[in-house]
Amino acid sequence: MKFELNLRKRNIPKEDLIADLQKVANEIGQGTLTAIIYAERGKYGVNTVLRKFDRSWNNALSAAGLDLNNRINIPEEELFKNLANIWEILGRQPVGKDIEKSNNLSKFSLGTYEKRFGGWNKALESFIEYINGNIGSESGTQEFTDIKAKRQLSQRTSKKINERLRFKILIRDSCICKICGASPAKNPEVHLDVDHIIPYSKGGETLEENLRTLCSKCNRGRSNHFIE
Ligand SMILES: [Zn+2]
Repeated sequence: MKFELNLRKRNIPKEDLIADLQKVANEIGQGTLTAIIYAERGKYGVNTVLRKFDRSWNNALSAAGLDLNNRINIPEEELFKNLANIWEILGRQPVGKDIEKSNNLSKFSLGTYEKRFGGWNKALESFIEYINGNIGSESGTQEFTDIKAKRQLSQRTSKKINERLRFKILIRDSCICKICGASPAKNPEVHLDVDHIIPYSKGGETLEENLRTLCSKCNRGRSNHFIE
């Protein structure tokens, strides 16, 4: 008689694996989870998880609504940039539901924002403070101070439109081209630029009142007339 080992693994439902991934991520207080941490704290083996998700840890994380890049302490600036991108794509203020993984809009999970800022609304508030230039990285703050100092000395602003200012203008203009009305919300191929109304080379300043949102088509058409 031939003796056969029963190597068939218990067939654990995906939902159970997902629930346990979420549980461990929650325990460590992060929106993501590495395989190493899961191996230490998880109820199932890493291989069991991998087998169920096409040998991809990221697939498993994605199914569990966790962040893919296995990074902990993601810089605030990156969280804000991601939020800005989503806002631009939607053409409106994102709600928590927009951040859920299922629609692939967000690089980070809703939980990451909620944990970092103490709730989605708080995340939005921090974001608005960020683009208004009140908080943020040191270099950003420095830049802001420089602009203020320049204004006081009646000197010119710098030509460069930084990320925050760019986004402030996009929100003000509802992420719609001020010439033709195109928007990424209506057509995903539309790319928006922030443009100097009076060109910088003609003495136009990099200030809110001299900036507007244009789609790249309208912006290119304009550059032909105003060579900077
Ligand atoms: Zn346009």
